[in-house]
Amino acid sequence: MEFSLFVQRNTMLIKCPACGTQGNLSKYGASTLPQKILKFFRIRKFYCKNCGWEGHKFIIRITKNIKQVLLSYFLLFISVIILAYVVIKIILRK
Ligand SMILES: [Zn+2]
Repeated sequence: MEFSLFVQRNTMLIKCPACGTQGNLSKYGASTLPQKILKFFRIRKFYCKNCGWEGHKFIIRITKNIKQVLLSYFLLFISVIILAYVVIKIILRK
């Protein structure tokens, strides 16, 4: 079963918004507090080795298996309901 809605993007596959090339973006280290907060929300500052572009990008994306993930949560939900029902039945029997 698949439960992760978000997956980490491969930074080598992120295209530069300015020049459109792939694999030229490098991450800045998160040293200041605002950068650490952004890092917590999976936003990182990048610069382009090709054209010098600088900016922020999300480094996560929604999984491609969204239907699989939602089905997993649905099955988990149903299982919890059934389990709760069984437990309540056992408790009420005594
Ligand atoms: Zn660029």
